[in-house]
Amino acid sequence: MPFSSLGLSPALLRALSARAYTAPTPIQAAAIPAALQGRDVLGSAQTGSGKTVAFALPLLQQLAQVAAEKPRRARALVLVPTRELAAQVGEEFRNLAQHLDAPLKVSVVFGGVSINPQMMGLRGGTDIVVATPGRLLDLLDHNALTLAGVQALVLDEADRLLDLGFAEELARILSLLPAQRQNLFFSATFPPAVQALAHTLLQDPLRIDVLPTPQDRPDILQRAIAVDAARRTQLLRQLISQEKWSRVLVFVATKHAAEIVADKLRKVDIDAEPFHGELSQGKRTQVLADFKAERLTAVVATDVAARGLDITQLPVVVNYDLPRSTSDYTHRIGRTGRAGESGLAVSFVNAGTEAHFRLIEKRQGLQLPREVIPGFEPAETAPPAAAGTGGVKGKRPSKKDKQRAAARGD
Ligand code: AMP
Repeated sequence: MPFSSLGLSPALLRALSARAYTAPTPIQAAAIPAALQGRDVLGSAQTGSGKTVAFALPLLQQLAQVAAEKPRRARALVLVPTRELAAQVGEEFRNLAQHLDAPLKVSVVFGGVSINPQMMGLRGGTDIVVATPGRLLDLLDHNALTLAGVQALVLDEADRLLDLGFAEELARILSLLPAQRQNLFFSATFPPAVQALAHTLLQDPLRIDVLPTPQDRPDILQRAIAVDAARRTQLLRQLISQEKWSRVLVFVATKHAAEIVADKLRKVDIDAEPFHGELSQGKRTQVLADFKAERLTAVVATDVAARGLDITQLPVVVNYDLPRSTSDYTHRIGRTGRAGESGLAVSFVNAGTEAHFRLIEKRQGLQLPREVIPGFEPAETAPPAAAGTGGVKGKRPSKKDKQRAAARGD
């Protein structure tokens, strides 16, 4: 089915072909016609399914059809959990809007950077606001914008928004929106809190479940390599050079580990940078830009990078430390194999993390053979007492921890 059969305007079709999007993904094919008719949509979709375009196109088309009021007021609000996702979603809106007759203004606002340029940017009004909840509330407190003219609300990665402890911020924002509006709600998972939010927010929504089919399931080869905790960096170096990995996203459990592992890789001439919530926004943006432009071979990241980031043709993801949860595993490996490309996800497993990995496998319906790389045969047998063996130790973060992490942008 071509995009042209979905009822989209010629200006949007032109932008799609400029983006080289030839046919809609399943979620786009289902959501676009319904959203164009003004229906609420409840989409269950993983990142990589094309959901950004699925909500951006109908919003742009609807906004472009009606001239903006004077003064201009935000007419569409897109709430996202992280700064990086905000930047990415804003960019996609701008790309798709470029051929519209009447230009639409897209404002992207997120925390961790000075509020003043964002306040300046909102002067004279805007059409579309893509925001993280905390910064949006700060801007509202400064009277930098009003939500009274919002006709459409998108909640993107609703599960992640709630995971990060944004429930109170969301409730405040929702109370400031006009009751009459369209709601587009997307989430990869539907735990009870997300279901409850969807239930209160949506009116007779079109429910779209994009189950991965053999055609659109990301083509990700998953491997598990048995290696002692202390030898993981050496093994990583060897794999990068022997398997000729051009770019690899390495996940670790802590900011400290991200710094140390990146440092060790740099010492052996692998271009590597850490990526975590304590870096300045400028640094984070720079690292991502360098990675996307292939100026870096490795980025060593905490789970801040696991969701939402879209790095096209990222060939390899490594779980240097295992993720805490099965859903984090899904999101981490989902950074590769995006939009029909193939990818590789490698997990390092050692005596201390074997039981945890088995649990992840069970929940994922997986059974991966444990590879042993010559020269890296594991010697550990008992779970090591020392730290740094994976993301499985310690208590689960409390709600407060999550809120603090969210405030830092983790
Ligand atoms: P998302 O699920 O929104 O994070 O999108 C995942 C990736 O799919 C992004 O790199 C988009 O640029 C890409 N994408 C979205 N729609 C299409 C399409 N119809 N055809 C090809 N790629 C697409």
